[in-house]
Amino acid sequence: MRVTFVGVGEAFDETLSNTSVLVESGGLAILLDCGFTAPSAFWAVAERPLELDMLYISHFHGDHYFGIPALLVRSIEEGRSKPLTIMGQSGVAGKIRQLMDMAYPNSLKKAQFALNFIECHPETPAASDQMQFRFAVNDHPMPCLSIRIESEGKSIFYSGDGEPTKETQALAQGCDLIIHESFSLEPTKPGHGTVDSSIKFAREAQAAHLALVHVQRMVRRENKQTIISRGKKETQLHVFLPEPGDHFNVEANTTIGCNQL
Ligand SMILES: [Zn+2]
Ligand SMILES: [Zn+2]
Repeated sequence: MRVTFVGVGEAFDETLSNTSVLVESGGLAILLDCGFTAPSAFWAVAERPLELDMLYISHFHGDHYFGIPALLVRSIEEGRSKPLTIMGQSGVAGKIRQLMDMAYPNSLKKAQFALNFIECHPETPAASDQMQFRFAVNDHPMPCLSIRIESEGKSIFYSGDGEPTKETQALAQGCDLIIHESFSLEPTKPGHGTVDSSIKFAREAQAAHLALVHVQRMVRRENKQTIISRGKKETQLHVFLPEPGDHFNVEANTTIGCNQL
């Protein structure tokens, strides 16, 4: 399973694109979240952008799904023919169609590919041929569904936004890689994770690797070394702060990038 950190930023970071993660396994590619600044980063790092099979939207904040019109319209322009499946919470199809109507009215009529939708629920697993998906509700100001992906004997967990809950803790148990929103160093903003809560979460899940993403822009800039040193204290857990474009190969347990901890 290959993970590419397309974007690692929070909503309004002027230097880092919104957190967006490309997961590839068994010939299937799924993009986790696509906020307003994610599409250009996706087009820059994806090797075969028109081959994307699925898109998962963790929740309906703009930094997690307002990039969809750009992603879809460029795909239409470039003659995409492969079907695309968008997964998200109840009402996902209506939300996306409303967004497309506002951004580029009538553009979907020109699409030469099928656009499919799957509604995700905490109690209902979903699957494609190569990947299995399960979901749990995170603690965030608007409902957010964390996702666990299993494929070819490996598993990853992506939190979306929010603090851990007992449900997400159970969902993440035993995952090879956890990707968790870690907005701040100290718990200053309810409904968001912290560096320490993410580390505790991954440790309790007995995960091997933890990627800290969606760190508040000033916190990441001014406290990078503090974040790194907190991760280094872990003895059983490999903690890292991915940079945009970094790859993580779950099979080989290696991070290819410029910021390994
Ligand atoms: Zn966010
Ligand atoms: Zn959010």
